[in-house]
Amino acid sequence: MRLPSKKTSSKRGSGSFETKNAAVRIVFPTVLLELAPSRIDGVGVRAAAGIRRGQRVAPGIHEADYRRLVLWDGFSQYEPAVQAKVLAFCVGTPQGFIPPDKLDFNALSIDWYFNHSCQANLGFDDSGDFVARRVIAAGEELTYDYGLAESNPGFRMDCRCGSETCRRVITGDDWKKPEFRAANLPWMLPRLRREPKVSFLLEPHARRARQVRRALSHPYR
Ligand SMILES: [Zn+2]
Repeated sequence: MRLPSKKTSSKRGSGSFETKNAAVRIVFPTVLLELAPSRIDGVGVRAAAGIRRGQRVAPGIHEADYRRLVLWDGFSQYEPAVQAKVLAFCVGTPQGFIPPDKLDFNALSIDWYFNHSCQANLGFDDSGDFVARRVIAAGEELTYDYGLAESNPGFRMDCRCGSETCRRVITGDDWKKPEFRAANLPWMLPRLRREPKVSFLLEPHARRARQVRRALSHPYR
């Protein structure tokens, strides 16, 4: 289990009260999510109805959420139960993690319970909301690849998703890997779609490219 942050100001997917001729009509959002036992990890989320490819499923992780990042610096001071919740649920960056609303782990919404899968059926749209990567049948477990969102270099998780393409170990550096990016780029969290800064993976290649450029620009040296 692991979760994204809760969006605080979503209009899409919200219920409403519509007033017409003095009568009030109450409109509920379509029920899409329900908690259920998971074959992957304890509790998960299943689709309560069929979902179209590209359909928005839940609020995801937004730029505003990164402005309330909690830094790792104070982590060891939290009580053990809080530390466990952070590690199990919160999306991390090198600097910190995104906490739940009001810092309250007693009130996590259902979308915090999406499990990881290496062959997941959810991804992120351009605003960071969760959307369906393919048609999803009612009753299927809803999952996303944590590599789409996780950028804490210290994050490491053994995977038991059972898919044919299982990576076995999921890390906070998966988003940087060329093969992962090639397979997942349109579904990654928008901020991670941007090229990583020259990393240890690319550095030797980048250095060689600079040498070649320099040699070409000064051919007679
Ligand atoms: Zn896996």
